[in-house]
Amino acid sequence: MVGFTALDPVPHDVGPAAYAGSQLATGVAPPEHAYAGLSVPVAAPPAAGEMAPDDREIADAIAEGRAWMTELLARLVDKDTTLGREEAGQAVVRETLSELGLEPVDVPMDAAALRAHPVASPFDWDVGGKRNVVATWSPLDGFGGLSLILNGHIDVVSPEPRSQWARDPFTAHVEGDWLYGRGAADMKCGLTSILGAVKGLRDLGLSPRAPVHIQSVVEEECTGNGSLQTVLAGYAADAAIIAEPFGAAITTSQVGVVWFDVVVQGLPGHAAQSGTMVSAIESSLPLIQALRAVEAELNASPPPPYDQFEHPISLNVGQIHAGDWNSTVPGECVTGFRIAMYPGTSVADIRARIERAIADAAAVNPGAFLVAPEVRYRGFAAEGYQVPPDHLLVGSLSSAYARHLGVPPALVATTGTTDARVLGAAGGIPTVCFGPYAEGAHGVGERVYLPSVVQTAQVMGLFIKDWCGVA
Ligand SMILES: [Zn+2]
Repeated sequence: MVGFTALDPVPHDVGPAAYAGSQLATGVAPPEHAYAGLSVPVAAPPAAGEMAPDDREIADAIAEGRAWMTELLARLVDKDTTLGREEAGQAVVRETLSELGLEPVDVPMDAAALRAHPVASPFDWDVGGKRNVVATWSPLDGFGGLSLILNGHIDVVSPEPRSQWARDPFTAHVEGDWLYGRGAADMKCGLTSILGAVKGLRDLGLSPRAPVHIQSVVEEECTGNGSLQTVLAGYAADAAIIAEPFGAAITTSQVGVVWFDVVVQGLPGHAAQSGTMVSAIESSLPLIQALRAVEAELNASPPPPYDQFEHPISLNVGQIHAGDWNSTVPGECVTGFRIAMYPGTSVADIRARIERAIADAAAVNPGAFLVAPEVRYRGFAAEGYQVPPDHLLVGSLSSAYARHLGVPPALVATTGTTDARVLGAAGGIPTVCFGPYAEGAHGVGERVYLPSVVQTAQVMGLFIKDWCGVA
């Protein structure tokens, strides 16, 4: 029966860490119950229960929407929703919400309100005209259960270098059970599962007994300020699920992430006299090494559950901008970094550590730094976040999953950040991530396993029944 097709059966002893995350696996189907390779288990989940007759009805109604979900996902992937262009995707979300009989409400980004909030991440770009979209599905037949936020982000990262893609990254391509394209994994598949769950329940004529807020937010990939804006607009609930594509797992713990730029000034001049000039590019290289040393220190003694990872804290040198002429010694170099930190570390602490490492490294070779290097902040200023694995939300979502699939999901920690910390820290809303199985996020050939999109929607449908109640 289509409603109960789990991920294709393949040997169960294949470790999940061998799959997913940013890697593209080569098999035609992921291992059964595979989850993202960037995650490790934090606790044993509760045992599986039995499907009730109305569980089956819900799962089947949602499975009926498989073709609808594939088509919706393709329409979303076809829109380039990189930073500043999110509106094209939000238009598709609005149309879909209206088609489902819900009323989409715009939650515009308010730069001043965001900048005044302690959980906001700094930004120096224009957010004017950018809108989050929220629809509230309200009880028709009396209130009774717990309220819920189902959240996904519409923004995607750049597909560059496009030359490495076999096909246009913004044209969805289905091959077998996989849908390819930028955003197919991270995370238009998750938004699709949310909408597929709502459609299936509504097709059965059901409505929740507590409000369900469906959110499509901007700027998850750089600040989290889109989700923060929904909190500022007053959206709250007893729990939230973010449908990030981590597979057969519930993410209960995540690291924090800070973005920073290091600006180095050199002494520009003619390359023929380079002995007397100072190259900002070459002065920047030892600073990268100094930050690698900070990364190594942070990885030396990780607290649980991050002690189960080989390399929980990653420093990424994401971009370098310097120079504009091969015969000119470059006068300025701006290097953009991302570093992670454990839950419990404050943004101020990690920033102080970065600034100290840069200052110490510059002091070693004063001739290379005519002006002290400057550290600037824009983008993520995100602390880590965790929900206790024995939280009611985790138990209830695990139970819905286990009833449907026969085995409980893994409860995991991740070495990335998500908007869970925004809803959790700023909104006080217990939040976990749960979504489809996907591969190649932020990479080339990003793809999602389509059966897992349906499966995620089915588990969400059962969870809505349990958590909110349906009538
Ligand atoms: Zn994401």
